[in-house]
Amino acid sequence: MRLGIFGGTFDPPHIGHLILAAEALAQLELDRVLWVLTPNPPHKTRRSLTPVALRYELLRAAFEADPAFVISWVDLDRPPPHYAVDTMRLLRQDHPRDRLVYLMGSDSLDDLPLWHMAQEFVLQCDELGVMCRPGPDLDLAELEAALPGLLTRVRILEAPLLEISSTRLREKIASRGTYRYYLPRGVYKLIEELHLYRTAEAQP
Ligand code: ATP
Ligand code: MG
Repeated sequence: MRLGIFGGTFDPPHIGHLILAAEALAQLELDRVLWVLTPNPPHKTRRSLTPVALRYELLRAAFEADPAFVISWVDLDRPPPHYAVDTMRLLRQDHPRDRLVYLMGSDSLDDLPLWHMAQEFVLQCDELGVMCRPGPDLDLAELEAALPGLLTRVRILEAPLLEISSTRLREKIASRGTYRYYLPRGVYKLIEELHLYRTAEAQP
């Protein structure tokens, strides 16, 4: 099997995430995408996240019973810190015969040299599926110099640049902007029902 591993805080999950996962599934010929909900990522310490139980419900609502998309409990079942390198080691133990393809946006790839045990993380990934995001161009040579072996693993997905982020959507919801169609229908409905993201975040 070829397994996509898609980590994130998904606060909330939006159509950018779904398009990334769907394009990866098709273009990288994956059998399944495991969505790894990270309770408390080590790099996002500056704002309070929506409780993970609620983010789990939002993620469930995002898929509408798509059999190719599965929520992984690998990070929900263990204590922090939730480093991706440990996530990959645990998934390798669970899936010893599968090829593991880590999925991310280009902002995450750009940050990768700063991740905990980044070189080891790269070695744990058979491939990295990357969807570009609006922002500065990637310097692939610089990334390869920092993390040798990275470039042979990177597969850039063909996809439109989507200027959609959870941060921007949280801001839009708090300021009563229009946000409905940036989200899967089930996610929109839950946010409305539970009045999520209605107050502006305290700035760090
Ligand atoms: P936040 O603004 O809270 O950081 P986000 O929209 O970046 O939210 P995350 O949960 O941080 O969402 O992202 C999970 C993964 O999805 C990351 O690897 C990120 O790069 C990728 N991603 C998110 N939005 C997009 C997008 N619009 N295009 C491509 N990749 C994306
Ligand atoms: Mg992000």
